[in-house]
Amino acid sequence: AALVARIDALVRLVPDYPQAGVLFRDITPLLADASAFAEVIEAIAADVPGPVDLVAGMEARGFLLAAPVAVALGAGLLPVRKAGKLPGPTEAETYELEYGTATVEIHPSTVPAGSRVLVIDDVLATGGTAAATVTLLERCGAEIVGLSFLVEIAALEGRARLAGRAVDALVQVP
Ligand code: 5GP
Repeated sequence: AALVARIDALVRLVPDYPQAGVLFRDITPLLADASAFAEVIEAIAADVPGPVDLVAGMEARGFLLAAPVAVALGAGLLPVRKAGKLPGPTEAETYELEYGTATVEIHPSTVPAGSRVLVIDDVLATGGTAAATVTLLERCGAEIVGLSFLVEIAALEGRARLAGRAVDALVQVP
C-alpha cells in the first residue's frame, strides 16, 4: 500500500499528450527517485509467478524496467523492438492501433525453445502491444510465465486481451 501511494505520487499526469484527449502517465519522476525505483524493481521481481529464463521488455520504457528486473531475477534480457531497429534475422508481429498499425520484433535466435519469459512494460493500456508480444514470443517457442506492468489503465480493458495469462500491475488506475 505504501508503494502504491509512492508510485501514485511519482507518476505525473500529462493531459493531451501525445495527442488531444489522452491522459499520459509520465514515469520519469519515478525513475529519478532512487529508493522508489529500487522498490518498484524489487516488487516486480517478487511478484513473478515462476522461474524465468528471459525478461522481455517493450521499447522503449519497458526496457527501463525489464533490464534491472532481469538482473534481480538472474535472467537474461530480451529487447522487444519496434520495426526496423534490429539487424536480424527477426521475427515480427503487426497489430492494429486506433489509427494504423504497429510492429514488434525480436531476434528469435536469442529465445531457445521452451524459454520461460516474463514480459514487462511500464503501462498496460489497450493491451495491444502486450498481446502482440505474447503472440510473437509463443510463435518463437517461448513459454510466457506472466506479464508485469507498473500501471494498468483499467478502463482500456487491456487485461481482457491477456485472458488466461498471469497479469500483474503494481498500480491500477480507473
Ligand atoms: P497498449 O498497446 O496497451 O494500448 O499501449 C501500451 C503501450 O503504450 C506501452 O508500450 C506503453 O509504454 C505506452 N503507453 C500507453 N499509454 C501510456 C501512458 O499513459 N504512459 C506511458 N508512459 N506509456 C503509455
